[in-house]
Amino acid sequence: MRTPVLAGNWKMYLTPAEGRQMIEALRPLVEGVADREIVLCPPFTALAAAADAIEGSNISIGGQNVHPAREGAFTGEIAPPMLKALGCRYVIIGHSERRQYFGETDATVAEKVRAALAEELIPIVCVGETLEQREKGVTNPVVEIQVRQGLDGLSPEELSGLIIAYEPIWAIGTGRTASPDDAQQVCAFIRSVMARLAGEGAQKTRILYGGSVKPDNIKELMNQPDIDGALVGGASLKAESFARIVRFE
Ligand code: PGA
Repeated sequence: MRTPVLAGNWKMYLTPAEGRQMIEALRPLVEGVADREIVLCPPFTALAAAADAIEGSNISIGGQNVHPAREGAFTGEIAPPMLKALGCRYVIIGHSERRQYFGETDATVAEKVRAALAEELIPIVCVGETLEQREKGVTNPVVEIQVRQGLDGLSPEELSGLIIAYEPIWAIGTGRTASPDDAQQVCAFIRSVMARLAGEGAQKTRILYGGSVKPDNIKELMNQPDIDGALVGGASLKAESFARIVRFE
């Protein structure tokens, strides 16, 4: 009953021309796939080219980050209406790389989520534990705090419409995927936290897994009842590998 979401996060890769090429190669490979949402999140500089390249296809685009203000003297930042004007439907918020290298916290995540929702952008809110936290056995409490604080003050309706990406930090870009069982356990736990915040609406929230998702592990991940899709980094840069992920092949 939840439409799967397969989202690619290009991070700081691909120029406008390279992004366009990737999308032109991807389009025929995912043509006719209608029962899932296909999303690409290029760097800001490639968004306009990507918006042009997806025209008339089943692919949507999103930003990788956003500033919480609608406009203002914030050199180097991008506001929600700017993403919207470029044709973005989604925006990634609180990716672990933003938290680790750019000082983002659950409080800034909460501000950005509210700002994105005000512009009718669908937030893809990232949460996940470090290796040290996993080894200490505190994954659930860590993720619960990120969910509760990052989504603070939202209505049940807003909570049911957004997307959460569970990305264990030790699995990002390392080739080390969480086992489908481990990923399912945390995603089910996130849904139980959402149920306490949103009631029945939590059944509608899409919860994605992210961290070294590849064509060879997507099927098993998608077989888990609480995993509604994937946030894909490295494997989303190439049309062939991302298409296989989109098709669960
Ligand atoms: P990865 O990145 O697929 O390259 O591990 C995932 C992410 O950071 O969203």
